[in-house]
Amino acid sequence: MSTPKPADAGAAFAGLSNGMAESAAAPLLAARDLRLELGGRPVLDGLSLAVADGEVHALLGPNGAGKSTVAYTILGCGGYAPAAGELLFAGERIDALPLHERARRGMALAWQEPARFEGLTVADFLALGARVDDPAECLRRVGLRPETYLPRALDRTLSGGERKRIELAGVLERRLRLAILDEPTAGIDLLALADIVTLIDALKDGGASVLLITHAEDVAVHADRASQLCGGRIVRSGAPEAVIAHYKSRACERCDGRSCRDE
Ligand code: ADP
Ligand code: MG
Repeated sequence: MSTPKPADAGAAFAGLSNGMAESAAAPLLAARDLRLELGGRPVLDGLSLAVADGEVHALLGPNGAGKSTVAYTILGCGGYAPAAGELLFAGERIDALPLHERARRGMALAWQEPARFEGLTVADFLALGARVDDPAECLRRVGLRPETYLPRALDRTLSGGERKRIELAGVLERRLRLAILDEPTAGIDLLALADIVTLIDALKDGGASVLLITHAEDVAVHADRASQLCGGRIVRSGAPEAVIAHYKSRACERCDGRSCRDE
């Protein structure tokens, strides 16, 4: 974990030449000065962010701050092409690449909905697509016994928590380089927070970097580093405890796009 850095809009990049330089390598993901309008309003307004290789990086911000927009822009979803700025993945410019080309390089929005496929077994599901790791081993890593679960139908006879684990086993199998988790604790109580933290660690142990998008500080505190999003840009970046303290001190329930900008 690195030392907190002074806050400014370029803190994510300041981190590169300070805190993150300790780990030497260029970041896995670097977003620089991204600008994007949605519905005639600037949602990303000079956003810069860096995620190091092997790092769990929390992106923290209130509802409406633009967190999901950051995820969709990184992934290259339709309608989310930035008007300005740069996106680099493993040193390569990716902002002109279509979504599937970015996915091929090993990034994905992971683990959003618990998988449910009527008619498929867990073994079938884990055999889909370009898999590199052993499905049984991946199930073990998410705390499920392969002998029990591989033959099971992937349907409503599994609990939501079991399906979330199975979905994550599928993510582990693909050996993603960057897993973007958008509000992994949102919605129904499928897994306890402690379970989610364990599973994020399993992703990290599998070699993935994780961009952990959340508005909840009890999730962000488990990251290696955190950045706070407000008004379409990163207003603070550094050790999670310091970023969370700043986030909490504002008590914004919904981002007003102004409070944090002029520090
Ligand atoms: P968060 O994930 O932080 O809650 P979002 O990224 O979903 O925030 O949204 C950021 C802002 O952009 C919100 O004000 C939202 O209403 C707006 N927004 C998101 N998507 C669109 C869209 N497709 N068209 C217009 N406005 C959008
Ligand atoms: Mg969102």
